[in-house]
Amino acid sequence: MSILSSRASSIRASFLLNMALLFAPSLFFGAELQPAQAAEGGALQAGAAKIDITPASDAALPMSGYASRKEGFQGIHDHIYARAVVLSDGARTAAIVAWELIGVPDGVWETVSQRVAKETGIPAEYLVLAAVHDHSAPAPFGMYGNDSPKSAVYTKQVEDATVEAIRKAKQSLQPAKIGTGTGKAYVNVNRREYSSEDGWWLGYNDKGPSDKTLAVIRFDALAGKPIALLINYAVHAVVMGGENYQVSGDLAGATSRYVENYYRGSPEDAPRSDAGRALQVRPEETSENVVALWTSGAAGDQNPVSLARGSDFSMVDTLGKILGEEAVRVAGAIHTTEHGHIWGKQQLVTCPGRKVEPGPLPRKEYKWEESDAVHIRLGLLTINDIALAGVSGEVLTMIQERLKKESPLNRIVMVTHANGSSGYLPDDAAFGQVSYEIATSRLKPGCAESAIVNGLVNLMKERFGEKAEGRRQKRTRQSAEGVCGKKS
Ligand SMILES: [Zn+2]
Repeated sequence: MSILSSRASSIRASFLLNMALLFAPSLFFGAELQPAQAAEGGALQAGAAKIDITPASDAALPMSGYASRKEGFQGIHDHIYARAVVLSDGARTAAIVAWELIGVPDGVWETVSQRVAKETGIPAEYLVLAAVHDHSAPAPFGMYGNDSPKSAVYTKQVEDATVEAIRKAKQSLQPAKIGTGTGKAYVNVNRREYSSEDGWWLGYNDKGPSDKTLAVIRFDALAGKPIALLINYAVHAVVMGGENYQVSGDLAGATSRYVENYYRGSPEDAPRSDAGRALQVRPEETSENVVALWTSGAAGDQNPVSLARGSDFSMVDTLGKILGEEAVRVAGAIHTTEHGHIWGKQQLVTCPGRKVEPGPLPRKEYKWEESDAVHIRLGLLTINDIALAGVSGEVLTMIQERLKKESPLNRIVMVTHANGSSGYLPDDAAFGQVSYEIATSRLKPGCAESAIVNGLVNLMKERFGEKAEGRRQKRTRQSAEGVCGKKS
């Protein structure tokens, strides 16, 4: 009971803190701790760890993501993890953490970020704490109003595991190299489908916008063995549906598992000789403990191309293999550098809220009620000119498209479900088609898209100043040449 009441009071405290912050016009945290004008980096160090956060098989905790499930989980299909990568440039240290859970509730973010700062010395602005949006995992306490005491106990265990993963990763820091690259995977599809019966609702819309980019950031030891890979792709981890009561990392877990097994290089798992040269395991890269940390991109309106019924997990492994293979191919072509300069900053933006009037969903006509303002936490963590753009919610894909166009940087990885949970974050145009994401969003139209894009672009400009402007102009010129062909 004491754990529960102290948790409740810490959640109350974070709520009060949030309310206090609401009245400040512009919010930047921790700038004093690690100022932007600090030295321009040095030699990069990296370390990684993963901690098993699978609950006991008979714990029967509530699951999250499908309202239809009223019972707790009934067993474990595959284990779920908290994965951490810690980076240092000598002056500054940052941590990137991914939970194989559905989200990071705002109150949990407050608690964990404060604990991480206190217990590992990494300030909140240098922490990216993301969930993979796994719908086959225990529900965190506070997620979608979950107030189960059993979930509170479990969430505390996940918090402990997070601090432990960061501590272990930090202890294993070693001189490292970093690089990034992108490829394509045809595993996601826009899920906002129109029908005359339901209007816009959940479905399969291969004409709708969908970004096939799979991004990888690679962290190697100096000799070239991978320490960790950060994988980013825009898809809901929902191959398994509401009929599944087995705990699983779903698509995110299957992708990480494939990549981690791949680098172990065991002959029985090796790709076929005719699977392509880029997929052949290079002996000098094999390692027992590579950490493949999966993060979700702008996946608010993106589902897997195929969904499973019941408890048939074969499609999870299939799609995870396709994503994992592309991650490995991308990683193999990445050029790395030993230089590291780390910079982080976060900003809380606030948009007016609304909620749909009670009634069946979907329906022909929607009316809206006034509701609380929605806070969205934006985080920018840069390592050299690689930018992790964290957003605390389910970003629809066109917001990322606009960010890519307007960003002063070329190498951006948007990490969603990061550092809090603001729900669905649709682009302005999407509000005109009331799909599931719009009906359940807590936002009024007309604010979030610009708030997210401008907020992140401003953070990039704050870090890079005029240099960033130069990069963007150069890129615009290059892409203009690409469209028009070579100048004569
Ligand atoms: Zn979702």
